[in-house]
Formats: sequence, structure tokens, C-alpha cells
Amino acid sequence: MSDAYPTNTPSPDVQPSNGQHPQTRTVHPPIETPVGSRPLNVPLYQGHLFAFDDADAMAAAFDGPRAAYLYGRMGNPTVRAFENAVAELEGGAGAYAAASGMGAISAVLMALLRTGDHVIAQSGLYGGTWALLRDLRERWGVEVTEVSGQDAGEVRAALRPATRLLYLETIANPMTQVADIPALAAAAREAGVTTVVDNTFAPLLCRPLDHGADIVVHSATKYMGGHGDIVGGVAVFADPAVHRRVWDHAVELGATADPFAAWLLLRGLVTMPMRVERQCATALELARRLAAHPSVAGVRHPGLPGHPQHELAGRLLSGGYGGVLSFDLAGGRAAGRAFIESVRVASLAVSLGDAATLVMHPASTSHRQLDAAALAAAGIGEGTVRVAVGLEDPDDLWADFEQALAKAAA
Ligand SMILES: *Cc1c(COP(=O)(O)O)cnc(C)c1O
Repeated sequence: MSDAYPTNTPSPDVQPSNGQHPQTRTVHPPIETPVGSRPLNVPLYQGHLFAFDDADAMAAAFDGPRAAYLYGRMGNPTVRAFENAVAELEGGAGAYAAASGMGAISAVLMALLRTGDHVIAQSGLYGGTWALLRDLRERWGVEVTEVSGQDAGEVRAALRPATRLLYLETIANPMTQVADIPALAAAAREAGVTTVVDNTFAPLLCRPLDHGADIVVHSATKYMGGHGDIVGGVAVFADPAVHRRVWDHAVELGATADPFAAWLLLRGLVTMPMRVERQCATALELARRLAAHPSVAGVRHPGLPGHPQHELAGRLLSGGYGGVLSFDLAGGRAAGRAFIESVRVASLAVSLGDAATLVMHPASTSHRQLDAAALAAAGIGEGTVRVAVGLEDPDDLWADFEQALAKAAA
């Protein structure tokens, strides 16, 4: 290196050209490793191959989620930074980042279940999770018993020798039931059963591992991403041995997170605490105003004193009661449909945790195949509207809702 550079300037890791031809030099340009300073933010590490100087070091790199980087499906510095960030937020030993929430859920369920196993699952789980459990029943004979998520006695009664997993959601959609994680996870633990909690609706608000869960899964597509531009997922493990088991299967499944998605998710995490705080506050405010509106027959949000699990939510959640609410329009199906087609600040769209407020009318969209009886069994009314609150000004949202409520009542 030229003496003209100060001594703290990093030197390229690759030797000078030695007279090689341009086509060799363009394949092997000098690569600098930062020396004397460090990146302040996690860099986007788009490369997926890592070279070794030693065969034993390379062999060791095949061995688990914390080994040296080898190949992108098995690990990447940007992806691992996201995994470590979420593991820390959830109080876990380690995490696995997937290409989607369903990627994380599939990796966990398929790694931990085998033919003939039994799962106890809260009823009304996310539709993709139910579809996976139904598939596992048909293909592998994995049996599922539904429980309400409120009563540890139901879990004890459902236990069998083949029971492997208890599967819960911290806050369920669209009825916002809050699962009694401490009581149910304790009942599972007494029987040696692993508890998995989908915490997509309550990042930061609840740390299920602190309440006895063993594994937490998230659709990072929602609050972590937060801007409607990434699909991602993550599973967090209390026990490194379980992390290792799931990682072994995840490497076979191949639903690994892309480094660019992980990089955007790290960027999303920066503002997630402020976004979630604001979304929770706006959701509670809208829930209160809706509850006082003459066209609204009922409102569900865990922050309202009349919510069936309000007291449990107070113990389980901190910093807010979630950014999702649902309400019933007195005018039934026609009113629900008129409301979602009349909003102008909110948008008619699936998902949650976005910067934009999103509304759904389950009876005419996501649950349209169900007749009135099936809707009622799922706890969903003909006039039920689901709201996933975004970051808009609450007064602008309320003005929008008031005009849509007026159209729905007409
Ligand atoms: C969206 C969602 C999922 C699935 O996540 P994807 O990122 O869409 O694969 C799982 N669980 C819950 C509660 C969700 O809302």
C-alpha cells in the first residue's frame, strides 16, 4: 500500500493483482474489512457465500444456527442481526427469521410434530395456521383439539399421551380475545407439552416467554415491517436446543428470510415502539367513540372495561391493548359492506400493523363462504367490521368513520 495513506486506513484483504488479467481481477476485487471503526447501523449483507482458509473451520460451519457463515439459506449477517434483535425483544435465547409468518409457523410445527402427534389449539386461529394444521391432520394424522384459550381446565382435559404442542395467539382476530397464556402454558408445562404463542398482534406489549411459553412466532409482515412493503416472519426460542431442532428443519424447508427483507425489518424495528404506542392509543380512542355512536351495536377492544378479558389484558399487556378493534353495525351485512366501501382515509385491505388504517368486513370478504349460523359459531356478526389502526391523525380517522357510519345507516 502507498505510504500516502494514513496507517489506520484499512488495507484490502486480497493481494495485489500479480499481473492477473482483468477477468480474474473483476471476479476477485480487493475487499476491505472495516478496521478502526465499525458500522453504526446493520449493513445490508447481500452476499450469500463465505470462503474459508481451513477445512475444519468450514466443516464446523455446517453445524447449527450460531456457526460461522457458510451459505445464505443457513445464515447471513443481516438476517442474524434481525434474529438477534427480535430474540432480545422477546427475551429468548435465539431466533429463526423466515420468508413469511407462515414460513416461521410451518418451520416450527413441521419440525416439532410427527405422525400421530396431538396438538391443543385455541379456536379461531389465523386462517393460514388452521389450514396448515388441517393439512397436517390429513397427511400425517396429527390430531387437533380446540380450546377457548381462556381456561386451563380445558387444556388439562384435552391432554393425551401424544400431546406435543399447545398453540395460542396473544390477541386473536377479529374478535380480539386475549389468551390466558400464563395459566394455559403452566398446564402444558406440567404435562411436558411445548407452548407456542403467535404474538403478531402484540409485539412489545406482551413477552409470552416471560409468561411460560416456549416459542413465540410473529408475522413480521405486520408491525415489525410496518410499512406494507415486506413479507417476513420470525420464531423465537427460550431453549437453544429447540432452536437447533427447528433450524435443522428450516434449512430443509428453505423458507429462509432474504437479507434485504431482514434489513428492511431492522429498519422497521427502529420505529416499532413509537408506532405501536400510537396505534394502541388511537385504537382505544376510536373504540371509545364507536361505543358511544348510535349506529354501533357493540365494540371489541381489550382496552375497553366491558371486554371479556379486560382484566387479563391488563395483567398480560403493557404499554397498550393492541391496535386492532372490531365493531358491529346495527344495520347488519348491508351496513357493514356500506361502511367499508365508504371510508376514504382508511382503506379496504387485509393485514394489520401498517402505517395506513385498514378495514375489513369479514361477512362479505374473508368469511363470505360462511352462512349466518357458521358466522355466529365463529363469533362474527353479519355487521362486524374489523379495523387495524394505522398512524393517521385520530381526528381525521374519526371524521372518516363518522361519514362512513352515516352512509352505512342510510
Ligand atoms: C398475517 C398473520 C400470519 C401469517 O403471516 P404472513 O407473514 O402473512 O405469512 C400469522 N399469524 C397471524 C396472527 C397473522 O396476522
